[in-house]
Amino acid sequence: MLGRCRLCDNIGEYDEWLKHFLCVQHREELIVPEREEARSVLLFSGGMDSLIAYFYVTSYYEEPIDACLFVDVGQRYRDMEIEACLKVKSLKEDFPLRIRKGPDLSISEAPDAYIPLRNLYLICEAVTCFSGVKKIYIACQRGENYVSDRSLTFTELTSVLLEKLEGVRVVNPLIYVTKIDMVEWYVENSFPIDLLYATVGCYNPINGKHCGQCSACFRRSVAFEYCGLPLDPMEHDIRKWEGIQKYINDIREKRMEKRRETQTLTVLKKWGYTI
Ligand SMILES: [Zn+2]
Ligand SMILES: [Zn+2]
Repeated sequence: MLGRCRLCDNIGEYDEWLKHFLCVQHREELIVPEREEARSVLLFSGGMDSLIAYFYVTSYYEEPIDACLFVDVGQRYRDMEIEACLKVKSLKEDFPLRIRKGPDLSISEAPDAYIPLRNLYLICEAVTCFSGVKKIYIACQRGENYVSDRSLTFTELTSVLLEKLEGVRVVNPLIYVTKIDMVEWYVENSFPIDLLYATVGCYNPINGKHCGQCSACFRRSVAFEYCGLPLDPMEHDIRKWEGIQKYINDIREKRMEKRRETQTLTVLKKWGYTI
């Protein structure tokens, strides 16, 4: 089947796996066909954390990123994530996106989309599909330590192991900042806002839209609201989501990390909640 390439004006072939039309050049550029050279690789999910991590590393640390790798591990929301990856690429032509079909991990996917050790698989995938890798960046933020493969311990220990075996360091540039800090930094430094909206952050997308009824939508919306950005178009109004009560309880019972608590409180008050 032929159609207009998703990323340029050329006519391209429909890709059964990606579910998009791509021209020959873009297929060759994006879908990692054989091992290519890349010294630094960022694990890219199509979400805003890894997008901001890209700018954080390249602008703040002034270090190059040779490839932003998205891996399809059969996750439930892969279609929406691939769509987000292509949207980012279409808005920022020099974004070094690479897409690869990895092992199918869907059999261990929990209802909240959590896949045990997913980041470990993704890191191994990056070492496998690129040669000469010295650094692998992953984007997990402060306040996520409770998720095993998003914790500081995970990054540090994996880095020690891989450095010893393969000479590869695993770096998490965002570990000391909250999601709100990240978005604030991005906005203050005038990075393109349309790229933020091209990313996805939702556990139950409905008709290609954010659902407005999940914790991913909540955390993303809190960050946008705090930074004065309009919320994403959503199927339901996140400000009225019943799940917000859980966060209020966490705040009341002092279970939320302090910095995140202060920032979340500011937004909840703005939305009319009393704590
Ligand atoms: Zn093209
Ligand atoms: Zn959602």
